[in-house]
Amino acid sequence: MHLPITLLTALPLWLPAINAYTPLSESFLRAIPSPGNAFDIDQASNGSLLAPLLIPRVPGTPGQKAAQAHLYNYFQTALPLWNVTWQNSTSTTPATGTQQIPFANLIVRREPPWAQPGGTNFLTLVAHYDSKRAPEGFIGATDSAAPCAMLMWAAAVLDKYLTQMYTEMSALGEGGDDLAMDMGIQLLFLDGEEAFMHWTDTDSLYGARSLATQWTMSPNPRPHHKFYKYRTPLQQISLFVLLDLLGAKEPRVPSYMPTTHWAYKALAGVEKRLRGFNLLESSSSSKRDGGETLAFLPDGESDTARARTARISDDHLPFIHKGVETLHLIPSPFPDVWHTSNDDGEHLDLATVRDWAKIVVGFVGEWLDLMEVWTEPEGEGQGQEEATSGNDKETMEKESTEGGKASFAERRRSFLTSSFPP
Ligand SMILES: [Zn+2]
Repeated sequence: MHLPITLLTALPLWLPAINAYTPLSESFLRAIPSPGNAFDIDQASNGSLLAPLLIPRVPGTPGQKAAQAHLYNYFQTALPLWNVTWQNSTSTTPATGTQQIPFANLIVRREPPWAQPGGTNFLTLVAHYDSKRAPEGFIGATDSAAPCAMLMWAAAVLDKYLTQMYTEMSALGEGGDDLAMDMGIQLLFLDGEEAFMHWTDTDSLYGARSLATQWTMSPNPRPHHKFYKYRTPLQQISLFVLLDLLGAKEPRVPSYMPTTHWAYKALAGVEKRLRGFNLLESSSSSKRDGGETLAFLPDGESDTARARTARISDDHLPFIHKGVETLHLIPSPFPDVWHTSNDDGEHLDLATVRDWAKIVVGFVGEWLDLMEVWTEPEGEGQGQEEATSGNDKETMEKESTEGGKASFAERRRSFLTSSFPP
């Protein structure tokens, strides 16, 4: 729904928005740009976010430094409104004796301009940028160079919507009124996910373990106003979305987590709508009976997470152990190239990489309820749009009362307002 500007000053748009939520419209989904050459694998390609990451990136080696410089410089130059910080640690590893290996997580945030330190809740998108030490020369294109590049691209697309959202909220004087609405985006590029020798609790997840621990032990300053909800940076994570092993053709990412299945369904809904409007490029060689391309996210219609696969060890574990809610986007089965020399740029399916990036942007748009700042293009049937959003709301309300199923908006609200375990 788009309101004339004169009404904007009279109506507290952002407060009801959290309960009355509108799915992204077709015109919004169509406006998500194509990633173009952002994921070119050719090192000579100008503007590729991915190509500079397609090198061995083992912690403690020059490749790690090159990957760090690429990530850091990108945000500093292309997205200056995003705050970029490093979280550093060192550790010995079973492969490197007494030497202290450096691990550096890159934390990239965009938050409301009025936010007090520690006052923003962050939808947190995560991928690891290190690569595995063996086999020699291992690139890790799906693991996880491509997911890192997807997040870089998504941030650039979302940047203007965040600016618009914050500008409108500031104009309405709504910032800080309702802590749940002080939403930001946080990207975590984690280091040291891979084992140096064989995967154990102590030889893996070096960066994630260090960050989760440090954030637990770093209390946020107590603000002057009444809210002191997010006691630590860890509690500021509303949902931790981990992307891993993405970029191979025909991925199947099941729903693993019962408590975040509602968010999985929203993500799958975005994929389904993008596909329905022919806005995705990838196609599968194996198709359903009707010749329909198989979904990346096949559990969108299920009422519950399948949870038939045992929990996969990954960067989300140290956060889960401290009470953070997560959504794990990792295919089952893993790509055929997993942990082999074939996990390189040439073996990526770039149409799939581009599709994932668009799906992520759509999901974040749903999370932030960006329809509130979206203007339907002129001449695309305003009357019809009204009717559609009316129906959507009706559906949402119906869903929320039927069989105890809460709507996306209600679930999201409870995630934004719930208290963590002490
Ligand atoms: Zn790996």
